[in-house]
Amino acid sequence: MSTVVHRDLADELRLIGSYDAEACMNCGVCTAVCPLEIALLPRRLFRYVELGLADRVRDESETVFSCLLCRACEESCPAEVHITENVRVLRHWLLEGSH
Ligand code: SF4
Ligand code: SF4
Repeated sequence: MSTVVHRDLADELRLIGSYDAEACMNCGVCTAVCPLEIALLPRRLFRYVELGLADRVRDESETVFSCLLCRACEESCPAEVHITENVRVLRHWLLEGSH
């Protein structure tokens, strides 16, 4: 199966809300502190967005909606990425389903 690259994905998310994950350095602290041990969120998911891999994001929608929005990850993030706002924007984008 071929992978379609959706180059404007990050820009599209920024039209929905204040999506910003550019500062993420993929350190893994977020996964370490997450009570659900969500390995996908936020680092792998944010990387998918940066690479324009919209299908990968859609494939992980169940995980996106399983996040508790507890902010444990965000409070520990050394790059101060506003993770939960990004998750909210991603949920909105997934629910719109018009892409
Ligand atoms: S803790 Fe912050 S910088 Fe580290 S991977 Fe998670 S979102 Fe990225
Ligand atoms: S907000 Fe909570 S549940 Fe969601 S990824 Fe961060 S630590 Fe995990």
